[in-house]
Amino acid sequence: MKDIKNFDLKELQGYMLSIGEKPFRAKEIFHAIYKEKQKDFTDITTLPKNLRQKLSEEFYIYALEKVSETNSHDGATKYLFQLRDGLLIETALIRESNKFGRKWNTLCLSTEVGCSLDCQFCATGQMGLIRNLDASEIIEQLMFVDNNIPINNIVFMGMGEPLLNYENVKKSIEILTDTEGRAFGKRKITISTSGIIDKIYRLADQIKMVNLAVSLHAADQTTRDKLMPNLKENPISKLKEALQYYIEKTGNAVTIEYLLIKNVNDSVENALKLVKLISSLKPCKVNLIHFNKVPFAEFSPSQREIEFQKLLLEKNIRATLRKSKGTDISAACGQLVTRNLTNVAKN
Ligand code: SAH
Ligand code: SF4
Repeated sequence: MKDIKNFDLKELQGYMLSIGEKPFRAKEIFHAIYKEKQKDFTDITTLPKNLRQKLSEEFYIYALEKVSETNSHDGATKYLFQLRDGLLIETALIRESNKFGRKWNTLCLSTEVGCSLDCQFCATGQMGLIRNLDASEIIEQLMFVDNNIPINNIVFMGMGEPLLNYENVKKSIEILTDTEGRAFGKRKITISTSGIIDKIYRLADQIKMVNLAVSLHAADQTTRDKLMPNLKENPISKLKEALQYYIEKTGNAVTIEYLLIKNVNDSVENALKLVKLISSLKPCKVNLIHFNKVPFAEFSPSQREIEFQKLLLEKNIRATLRKSKGTDISAACGQLVTRNLTNVAKN
């Protein structure tokens, strides 16, 4: 049996042709699964009965199993899902609003179980890489939550490094943005990467129009190597060239993410190095992130967040300070899953 959510529209059209059906049946299936959110082929009444029967024999419509849902005091929700093989992932929903009363919901999707990159401040990194998610498991995180809560933005910022699972992430975006299905806007999607250079070039050439955020966290190589030891082969100088290419090729702005960690990357000198590095990258903005303390590392949140932001603003760098939503339920990274896995291991 195959998971139909791993098939994009072209592949499904190819399948229809291969069984002697008209390709437009694929569009009807996309419509039924991603717009009407049908869970069973027998309920897709636009399809002839014999085709429904054949599909039920060859495919299934995958649904994630929710293990828990935790709400934080500031309106963030963290979902813990179990995958087919029993592994767990998390998805975070962040509810935001502005001073004009506009409200919007952002969903933070996971792309891998764990992560191979071992960033020293990150709970997901502590798990190591267990496996990549397939396109269906990525798509389903949105489909599950979106069923009850309208999602306006997607960020690939949950567990894992999206550009090390490039093909499945690309396919999930193609399926979710397909106008025959969920028709999610590409401009409403952001990929956050720790800076996998060759894939940033591919992203610029292949998946235009999505937004790119790069977790830089340090503007000098020595500090970055300390924080992100597995990214030495993706050095800052080459990363900058790739970002320049991405901006030129897509016309999109790039967001630089910068976690502020006490006495590690939050000095005046650190800020000036950052200014020097990115002032020629245009358009670009900086998102300063409040660090959430993790039990396995000595790092502490910076007490200089406002000063650091001020320094950037004075040098005409657009810089926002990201309020840390859901810290009481560890919605920023893989903490809930690692905790749960520990419990499972103990039992
Ligand atoms: N692998 C990708 C996307 C997932 S990590 C990346 O690194 O960009 C998503 C974000 O969570 C990153 O910006 C990362 O720096 C941040 N993050 C990880 N650990 C954190 C912590 N302890 N406190 C706050 N943010 C954290
Ligand atoms: Fe992986 Fe991102 Fe965590 Fe680094 S910060 S270990 S790249 S998930």
